[in-house]
Amino acid sequence: MSHTLIITVDVEDWFQVENLRQCIPFSSWSSCELRVEKNIHRILDLLDSINPTNPTNPTNPTNSTNPTNPNATFFVLGWIAERLPNLVREIHSRGHEVASHGYNHNLANDLTSDNFEKDIADSKKLLEDITGDRVYGYRAPNFFVNHFMLKAIEKSGYIYDSSYNSFAMNQRYGHLDLSQYTIKGIAARISKTFYELPISNIKLGKLILPWGGGGYFRLIPFYIFCLGVQLILKRETAYLFYTHPWEIDPEQPKVTGAPALSRFRHYVNLNRTYNKLSKFLEHFKEYRFITCHHYLELLNLI
Ligand SMILES: [Zn+2]
Repeated sequence: MSHTLIITVDVEDWFQVENLRQCIPFSSWSSCELRVEKNIHRILDLLDSINPTNPTNPTNPTNSTNPTNPNATFFVLGWIAERLPNLVREIHSRGHEVASHGYNHNLANDLTSDNFEKDIADSKKLLEDITGDRVYGYRAPNFFVNHFMLKAIEKSGYIYDSSYNSFAMNQRYGHLDLSQYTIKGIAARISKTFYELPISNIKLGKLILPWGGGGYFRLIPFYIFCLGVQLILKRETAYLFYTHPWEIDPEQPKVTGAPALSRFRHYVNLNRTYNKLSKFLEHFKEYRFITCHHYLELLNLI
């Protein structure tokens, strides 16, 4: 089971991110330029290009079952799925896992528990109606997760959550204590039928270095990042990476009113990320790329 990469993509657009929230209210989203479709196509094509022997024809019936295919997990926002159902169908038909990133990118902290439950149930149902397939996984906006949320996520019919990022220096992330659970591979068994798949980070004693992707992938020099991933894969059976479609889009509209730190987090190195991601996937192309759901299957957990 070692040498496994679990590539995940949070499918949202440039105007929906937490860093720019105060400048782009929810009410103005529908007037913003949708760029997510083009950027997701670039990511899908990049994944298909990793292995030249990989069938790229989306209608190829073997595409979803051939274990050598580089498959990834796409956590799709309901707001996006509602407007671009064909994009969701395409992600699914090209052999990738469609999972949920909630509906409107609200942090659970800003919702009542009833509204949170509705958000995660509605987004799951919408994605299932679009693909005709079951949705197994959920990722919370901004990695904000806690034990109460895990209960609600399980109750809504998901079998795993992938929201926990152990890098505590980012104070907007949620907190979980996974030490109380049985760990198999990188999966923490929250209950008999529900698991947490945390974002991968480097642990050095008590120190956690953020190594899962996103802005840290954009900031850390390429070869150092790859060395860190190799270090993680020496200790763990899998490495779980995350990225976003807007991270490969330097042409996106620039929002100037946000605080300097937020702008830095959102815009740093956007112009280099597509090539860096391409080099990263190429660097690890001998490894196995599988979906979150497939990883749990291989561990015999589901
Ligand atoms: Zn998000």
